[in-house]
Amino acid sequence: MTAAHLARLNDDQRRAVEFGVTTPERGPLLVIAGAGSGKTNTLAHRVAHLILNGADPRRILLMTFSRRAASEMAKRVERIAAGVMGSKGGVLTDALAWSGTFHGIGAKILREHAQWIGLDPAFTIHDREDSADLMNLVRHERGLSKKESRFPAKGTCLAIYSRVVNAETTLDEVLVKVFPWCAMWKDELKALFAAYVEAKQAQNVLDYDDLLLYWAYLMAEPSISGEIAARFDHVLVDEYQDTNRLQASVLLGLKPKGEGLTVVGDDAQSIYSFRAATVRNILDFPGHFSPAAEIVTLERNYRSTQPILAAANGVIGLATERFTKNLWTERASGDKPQLVTVRGEAEQARYVVETVLEARERGVALKEQAVMFRAAHHSGPLEFELTRRNIPFVKFGGLKFLDAAHVKDLLAVLRFVENPRDRVAGFRVAQLLPGVGPGTAGKMLDAMTGAVDPVAALVEFKPPQKTAADWPAFVEMVGALRGRGMGWPAEIEAVRNWYEPHLERIHEDATVRLADLVQLEQIAAGFSSRERFLTELTLDPPDATSGEAGVPLLDEDYLILSTIHSAKGQEWKSVFVLNVVDGCMPIDLSTGTAEEIEEERRLLYVAMTRAKDELHLVMPQRFFVTQQTRGGDRHVYATRTRFIPSAIIGLFQQVIWPPAPSEAPGAAAQPRVPVDIAAKMRGMWK
Ligand code: ATP
Ligand code: MG
Repeated sequence: MTAAHLARLNDDQRRAVEFGVTTPERGPLLVIAGAGSGKTNTLAHRVAHLILNGADPRRILLMTFSRRAASEMAKRVERIAAGVMGSKGGVLTDALAWSGTFHGIGAKILREHAQWIGLDPAFTIHDREDSADLMNLVRHERGLSKKESRFPAKGTCLAIYSRVVNAETTLDEVLVKVFPWCAMWKDELKALFAAYVEAKQAQNVLDYDDLLLYWAYLMAEPSISGEIAARFDHVLVDEYQDTNRLQASVLLGLKPKGEGLTVVGDDAQSIYSFRAATVRNILDFPGHFSPAAEIVTLERNYRSTQPILAAANGVIGLATERFTKNLWTERASGDKPQLVTVRGEAEQARYVVETVLEARERGVALKEQAVMFRAAHHSGPLEFELTRRNIPFVKFGGLKFLDAAHVKDLLAVLRFVENPRDRVAGFRVAQLLPGVGPGTAGKMLDAMTGAVDPVAALVEFKPPQKTAADWPAFVEMVGALRGRGMGWPAEIEAVRNWYEPHLERIHEDATVRLADLVQLEQIAAGFSSRERFLTELTLDPPDATSGEAGVPLLDEDYLILSTIHSAKGQEWKSVFVLNVVDGCMPIDLSTGTAEEIEEERRLLYVAMTRAKDELHLVMPQRFFVTQQTRGGDRHVYATRTRFIPSAIIGLFQQVIWPPAPSEAPGAAAQPRVPVDIAAKMRGMWK
């Protein structure tokens, strides 16, 4: 008899679910299969099946890639089990206490066993930003600050350190293979990392890498590892292709012979090598754990329509190295994926918004649609368009463009120039100057508020001595912009030039942030004036349902924006991929190795395979390249990504948008809507 919860599975999936549970085998199980073939679903069924067959849920360890994925998995297990056991389902998943990310589980285990390795169990955990700050602090203490030398930035130092730890390799190897331009600093880096480790210990903090590293140490210690390993009868891991050496070591400690171990993954979706993930983990699985490992492959895709799958297969089929087979689906109907040519990034944003709204008219909720991009800052123009049109969205992976501190800073300057009485803006702006704290900022604003001519008052104002050197440039910039001589959007460039040294002083990663500001300037150029630009931005009606940080309330409908990396494992009815052009996909890799280019191909594959019914790949003809690229900021005439060569172009439907040869309706050409903010505000309290 087939139990109800197994009835929906296909034969291969069922074999994976039942293996060693209701069958006599004991070895490790590897499910290696393509996108949308039900790997995650199979894993959830397996957990439910284990529990339904008497396994103690408290003795099951389930590891996923993100916390979001872990909680979704727990819910799925609950639903499956509840379907069989009725109301007892909820009790089961409450007991499924050991489900989470490797890092989360590591923290929990370390907390319990801290004293065994001389760790204070009250340790605190540093996120990446904290870690970079600490690295910076230590670096300064050691006289290795960037200002005095060309020593690598704190983020680079941390990346090198992290790579050594996660790949279980040596500093030498990482320097040679990944960061050759830092090799000259080998001795200094070594000393820096030693000091960084000491600082962490002295402060009783662990960074993310430590959570894995200490855990692996625990598992390598025979007197301790046995006890930890004995707590778990079953260990299951999703997205195994994106685990690194250190994580494999942890697993080896937990299940040395692989008994009770299940991992699932897809080598074609391995996209985290920059975090030292290695696809070798999945390929060498039998070698690591047991040559008797059971390997199940799944080839039927349940997610996408045939045309979408054919296109995705086409892209990945051209990969130089690949192990899994072609997928097939029974969802035969549906349109070919669209390959949409638009003029530039602003049109790209408008295309997405128009198409998303059109789909919503047809009954596809915003939540069923997602927009994906290679790098977090690529969604800037789209975020702007969505904000302007008051369409709610959430963004996974990276800060919302308009919420980023440096973007806010620049907008604050513009607002302050526009209205010198705006205290919030003024407060923010004044404190960008070195030596100006809230006290001075307040005094400056008081002087301006009381004056007939606020700018004259600003000129008169006597700043503290510490600020004297930077003050004239500030006053001059404000005066020049108020004078309106320079025109729009040259103004924004003037602000950026003024802000640049401050940005560099405040933020280590100034280059990336500066690229955002250049992006902002591009957006601003679509508007006729400063006022117009700022008004559009501040159009935020009092009945807006968005939460404080711009995160919509949970029951609201909102569009998903996500980096491709953060979209892993998920699916939507309609998917848009931005900037499917060379220079972006693959990202400008003039120095990229063949391996790096291949990883970019897999990224496009991951993005395409998120789509169930509709897929739109958008190609702006003019693409803005920031100054991280050789040759400085510039528009480049982009070409279709090399991952869609002519040989497979027939798998796509080529579209030019907007369809008519007439000019696209530019933002500036749209009818102006006067916004009477004051009346609106008064109305609110009537
Ligand atoms: P990815 O590689 O993107 O992580 P995956 O292999 O983990 O994908 P799932 O997310 O588990 O795939 O499943 C993809 C979709 O197919 C889901 O909507 C899931 O509910 C559905 N699905 C999986 N197996 C079956 C099945 N036997 N019958 C019907 N639908 C299924
Ligand atoms: Mg999955």
